[in-house]
Amino acid sequence: MIIVMRPDATEQQVEYVASMVREMDLKDHVIVGTDLTVVAVIGDDRKKDRTAFELCPGVDRVVPILAPYKIASRESRRQPTQVTLGDSCMIGGELVPIIAGPCSVESQEQIMESAKLVQQAGATALRGGAFKPRTNPYSFQGLGEDGLKLLAEARKETGLAVVTEVLTPAEVDLVAKYADCLQIGTRNAQNYKLLEAVGRQPKPVLYKRGMSMTIDEYLQASEYILAAGNQNVILCERGIRTFEDHTRNTLSLSVIPELKYRSHLPVVVDPSQGTGHARLVPAMCKAAVAAGADGLLIEVHPDPEHAMTDGAQSLTPTVLAETVQALKRIAAAVDRRV
Ligand code: PEP
Ligand code: MN
Repeated sequence: MIIVMRPDATEQQVEYVASMVREMDLKDHVIVGTDLTVVAVIGDDRKKDRTAFELCPGVDRVVPILAPYKIASRESRRQPTQVTLGDSCMIGGELVPIIAGPCSVESQEQIMESAKLVQQAGATALRGGAFKPRTNPYSFQGLGEDGLKLLAEARKETGLAVVTEVLTPAEVDLVAKYADCLQIGTRNAQNYKLLEAVGRQPKPVLYKRGMSMTIDEYLQASEYILAAGNQNVILCERGIRTFEDHTRNTLSLSVIPELKYRSHLPVVVDPSQGTGHARLVPAMCKAAVAAGADGLLIEVHPDPEHAMTDGAQSLTPTVLAETVQALKRIAAAVDRRV
């Protein structure tokens, strides 16, 4: 960080700030300019409370230099991180995988049919919620462990890697037993104990951005997973809350290049939760791939009108297949493959 002194700061005030820096076991470097004096702090100050300096007499402001997140940052790793789901689906390389499937696992017939149809359409991984974080406690909550068993059956049948959500630290081991990748939903994005719990096991984590999280908050929170030991983290933009009400959320596509600039972690986009309307999903899939997304998470249902959850934003397998064909052309234009 750099501590900028006020123009009228005295030499004693500068020395006091410098002594506080040394008290924190960091090195101080005082730079006296023509108008202002600044105290540069040398060393990793991320674990220190920077705001303490704002209380010191003569200090104007404190400017952080290092990103507040360490393992997730580009400063710590320049090469992009690649994460492998299951045996074959790799995220973060040239290929842009499509993770598709229903919002919820509803029955054996539904998940088997979904898996086969999304695979035929070009998907390389299967999504489906067994534990659902519902806004209303009286809504369908998912099939729980029975749903996980059905997902594992669908994987056996198709070879598709399985992505499914985990809601609590107590259920991490159970979900990890069946899934190839654990999804952390937007409502749990700041549940730090859950983030630590998925960080302590080795399966990849698809970590969605909280609906009201800034990019800095998001990357700092991803650090809970990384610092607990799991480096297989996939970021996922699924839209944020704004004043706009034509779409369920506002899908913020500029975060794709921004996250990739700040971090080495792969970035996936979920245009289904991001828009809330199936008719908007194909265009947002194309825009996401054009903007550099490393993968897409898309809700697809064999019979959206009868889906138990999120039918309005679910594509039919036919529309998914058409969208994948269009995505192949978009991907080629940005030197990627679908
Ligand atoms: C979902 O993927 O079905 C879901 C619940 O997502 P989100 O946490 O982004 O709302
Ligand atoms: Mn959903």
